[in-house]
Amino acid sequence: LAKQQGRNAYHWFTPEITHRLGDRVALRNELQEAIDVQAFELHYQPLIDRQGRVVGVEALLRWPNPIRGYVSPAQFIPLAEETGQIIPISEWVLSRACHDLRMLDEAGQGILNVAVNLSPLQFHRSSFLGNLRQTLAVTGLPAPKLSLELTEGVLMNDTESAIDTLHALRGMGVGVAIDDFGTGFSSLSYLKNLPIDTVKIDRSFVNEVTHSAEDAAIIQGIISMAHHLGLKVVAEGIEHEKQHDLLMTHGCDLFQGFYVARPMPLERLIEFLDATQPVSAGE
Ligand code: C2E
Ligand code: MG
Ligand code: MG
Ligand code: MG
Repeated sequence: LAKQQGRNAYHWFTPEITHRLGDRVALRNELQEAIDVQAFELHYQPLIDRQGRVVGVEALLRWPNPIRGYVSPAQFIPLAEETGQIIPISEWVLSRACHDLRMLDEAGQGILNVAVNLSPLQFHRSSFLGNLRQTLAVTGLPAPKLSLELTEGVLMNDTESAIDTLHALRGMGVGVAIDDFGTGFSSLSYLKNLPIDTVKIDRSFVNEVTHSAEDAAIIQGIISMAHHLGLKVVAEGIEHEKQHDLLMTHGCDLFQGFYVARPMPLERLIEFLDATQPVSAGE
């Protein structure tokens, strides 16, 4: 906007925008403080299989902020990407998630699969694989119990080194899921060349699946093609029984959303698992 207006660029500095810029600086400083004192939390949202058993959880970052309340990651992750603050945050997330899942095992719940969202910046760093190996070694989480979630965009850019990294992850036994599938511009035919194992259908399609014949058709298409490519399919953002049932009918493998459970702190997750599964499940 400022560029378009050329010499009249001062128009850009309206009071609202000055306020917004101030907000950004304030947010960045607050983020830094949160990083320094490790103020973040991880919540976990269960995933169930076709039999209704909890087989895994997704780790979701939470920032309890004294002034702003719980700040959604959707609000601060883009800024943290820009400032590079995402790097220390991501390292904390990965080690916390691996550590928590080991704790869950010690609490008698068995080792569930844990999905961790990766930031593009983190994924493309040369130190990424080394850090990951170290985190797995230190926490003792078996690599096959970890699944990393990437969005389509991450793989479209910088493809060659991205594919190398994916092959290395496969070699380690770590799972890779394409998150928010259907919102980017990649196609399943493009994915066939990538060493990934799961696609997560974006919740915008799930939202409409019971009302829109088009969205239902897209979902059916994604599931059927994914299965032909040997990929597992997760549907995210399931809020209603009807959506769950329809996805079941279409052959979806795993289900996640408020209908199953909301994201919750580790202590609550342990209670949730106690209440929903026999302790000996899976043994
Ligand atoms: P995502 O990975 O697609 O995560 C799913 C989001 O959908 C989460 O939002 C979750 O709380 C929300 N959700 C789950 N079930 C339902 C439902 O039934 N209905 C609705 N309306 N929403 C549902 P959240 O926790 O606010 O996270 C937003 C995004 O922030 C995530 O989208 C992910 O892209 C990113 N994110 C979260 N945690 C991390 C993290 O540790 N690292 C990075 N790099 N990104 C993260
Ligand atoms: Mg995700
Ligand atoms: Mg998602
Ligand atoms: Mg999503």
